[in-house]
Amino acid sequence: MNVYDSARMGEALALGGYAAAQAPEEADLIILNTCHIREKAAEKVYSEIGRLKKLKEKNKNIILAVAGCVAQAEGEEMLNRAPILDLVFGPQNFQTLPNMLDELQTRRRQHIKGGIVQTAFPAAEKFNALKSMPRKPLSRQPTAFITIQEGCDKFCSFCVVPYTRGAEISRPADDIEREARALIAKGVCEITLLGQNVNAWYDARAAFGLAGLLKRLAKIDGLARLRFTTSHPRDMNDELIAAYGELPKLMPYLHLPVQSGSDRILQAMNRQYTSADYLRLIEQIRLVRPDIALSSDFIVGFPGESEEDFAATLDLLREVEYAQAYSFKYSPRPGTPAAEKEQIDDAIKTERLYRLQALLTKQQTAFNQAQKGKTLPVLFEKLGKKQGQMTGRSPYLQPVHVMIAESIRNSRDLCGQILPVHIEKCHANSLSGALVG
Ligand code: SAH
Ligand code: SF4
Repeated sequence: MNVYDSARMGEALALGGYAAAQAPEEADLIILNTCHIREKAAEKVYSEIGRLKKLKEKNKNIILAVAGCVAQAEGEEMLNRAPILDLVFGPQNFQTLPNMLDELQTRRRQHIKGGIVQTAFPAAEKFNALKSMPRKPLSRQPTAFITIQEGCDKFCSFCVVPYTRGAEISRPADDIEREARALIAKGVCEITLLGQNVNAWYDARAAFGLAGLLKRLAKIDGLARLRFTTSHPRDMNDELIAAYGELPKLMPYLHLPVQSGSDRILQAMNRQYTSADYLRLIEQIRLVRPDIALSSDFIVGFPGESEEDFAATLDLLREVEYAQAYSFKYSPRPGTPAAEKEQIDDAIKTERLYRLQALLTKQQTAFNQAQKGKTLPVLFEKLGKKQGQMTGRSPYLQPVHVMIAESIRNSRDLCGQILPVHIEKCHANSLSGALVG
């Protein structure tokens, strides 16, 4: 979502006459768009500010801004810790960037010292403003994000999102469709719908949820692939599951974070489902889409997690067999209930993460290996790292590298095309093969 937000900040700034600089040294304005989900991400921001300080010392006119969830969580505190900052604004405020910059310039002219902090929560206002901002996908980019929902009301006991992104809010279906059509008109053929709880999306006026939205978007000519992320198991309703069997444009890949396989821990996390509920969902989805690739997030070392609880997570992994997954050591976040609990030793967390990731890697390799010998439709996105190579994605989101004969490269632009590729090799995180025909 930060990638999407950064792109939209660029669009808001373009309306005010700004254009992208090639390097920080050439920039008049530098914005760090930040993430607060784990401590490591938040701390990186301060080391980056430390590096940028040198640029600012050389050129006092540079405007240095911090956007996103660290800005939201720390607000004024950021200015105290890093007084060289000019602007600190939260994820619901970036549509007012041109105004904030005007105000800053006025203050500079009047020699008023100190930065501006903007961390209100006008999410509805932001969505309204986004409507009138033109989408400008990077040239030749066949795939794009659209945020359709933001914020969260679920309050998992480990998570800062409800505090940094605010309450759950959905954008109207008409606005989303307009944005999708504008992107498709510019050559985009794959759209990923984004939300912290994307499957809780609901349009009260149109009276339909995510399944209805997917059906509506799938009707647009020129759109070839649809994806959405991130879903919460609680909101995975029957209609949405059925959509996997009904919509060929909906890609067979689902990121459905479970976090833990232990019911005791799931309850302490306030996840509002049991491991049996989760497994039942997976069974239903596989019934309508047997080839679905499944992905998840896992947290190890949540306060109170015993070896037995962790073993239940490994059991769940073996039961599901994931195509890929993200896993993290539990990171105490300020203001969240779990941060107040007695914490688990870091060495134990590290050791559990290691065991979990070893099993996940095995499952990912097995999933990738199973594609060998198959012919998969690949959406080509960009030039590969090697001379003559192009890279795209399989329906299961695996990167696929293909060497393209010079004659084809010279005669056709493959970027944005979906072509059959015979899969020959499986690497750690990708596949490679040859064009068919
Ligand atoms: N809404 C999604 C997840 C959004 S946050 C869901 O409910 O599944 C993305 C991921 O970051 C989470 O799934 C979780 O695995 C991880 N995460 C969030 N807070 C964390 C914390 N305090 N420590 C470690 N990982 C965390
Ligand atoms: Fe965070 Fe997801 Fe839980 Fe919301 S549902 S609090 S975003 S982990």
